[in-house]
Amino acid sequence: MSLPKFGASTDLFKTALEGMKELQGYGFDFFEILVQEPFGTPGKLMKEQKEIIEFVKENNLFLLGHPPHWGEIASMHEGIRKAWVNEYKESIEISQKLGIKKLVVHPHTKKYPKGESFEEEMRENNIQSLTEINDYGKDHGVTIVLENVPRKESVFGFGDFKHLADNVDGLKVLIDIGHAHIYYGMDNVFKYLKAFMPKIDHLHFHDNYGEEDDHLPIGACSIDYKSVVEFLKKKKYDKTITFEIFTKDKDYASISMQKIKGMWGVK
Ligand SMILES: [Zn+2]
Ligand SMILES: [Zn+2]
Repeated sequence: MSLPKFGASTDLFKTALEGMKELQGYGFDFFEILVQEPFGTPGKLMKEQKEIIEFVKENNLFLLGHPPHWGEIASMHEGIRKAWVNEYKESIEISQKLGIKKLVVHPHTKKYPKGESFEEEMRENNIQSLTEINDYGKDHGVTIVLENVPRKESVFGFGDFKHLADNVDGLKVLIDIGHAHIYYGMDNVFKYLKAFMPKIDHLHFHDNYGEEDDHLPIGACSIDYKSVVEFLKKKKYDKTITFEIFTKDKDYASISMQKIKGMWGVK
C-alpha cells in the first residue's frame, strides 16, 4: 500500500529547534519549519544550522519549510516585488543548507476596500515572480509548492489559482484542505483535489467550520476527512501531509495524525 509521509508544522513563536523539540516523540516523519519572522528568518536559522541538522539526523526526520504567507510577490511596485522574490531566493538558499526539500509559497492576492483585486495585473506579476522562484528552487534542489488560499471566487479563488499553476512551467501544487473548505465546503475541496491531482506534491490538513481559517484538530469541526482520505487512497497518494494544527497543546497534532492514520487503515 502506498502511504504518505506525515508531519507537523512548528510553532510560529518558537525557534525551529524549540518547535521541533516539543513535537519530538509523537512519531512524525518530518517537520515543516517556519522560514519567517519572528524566529525563523534565514539569518536566525543560519545561526541554528548545525543544531538543526544534527537534530534532524538523530531523530531520523526530514524537513519542509514555510516562508512568509504575506509575501508581496505580485506587487505593482516593482522594487517591492523584487525584494520579496529575493527574500524567497534567500529562503531557498537556506533550505539547501538545512536540507529542506520542499518550500511553500502562497500567491499574492491583495484585496482592495471594495473587493477589487486588479486580477489581470496581479495574475501577470504572480506568474513572473513564481517563475523566478520556481526556477531558482530547481537550480538549488528545492521543490517549490504553491498553496491555495481561502478567497472568494471573485477575488483570487479557484480560477485564478489554476491560472497560476497552469502558467508557471513545472510548478508543483500544495492543496490546503482547510483553506479549500472555507466559503464553499466539501464540493470545493474535491474540486481542488480533482483539478490538481497530477501536480499535488504536498497537502495541509486541519479542521474548520467553513467560515474562518481556524486550523483546529482533525475531527473538531465539519470537514469530512474520511472522504478526503478515501479519495487520496484511491489515487495512491504517497507524498507529504502536514498537520497545521494551531493549538497550544501539541498533543492535538498527534491525535490528528492518529485519526487520519486510522482512516488510512495504518497504525
Ligand atoms: Zn501556508
Ligand atoms: Zn496551509
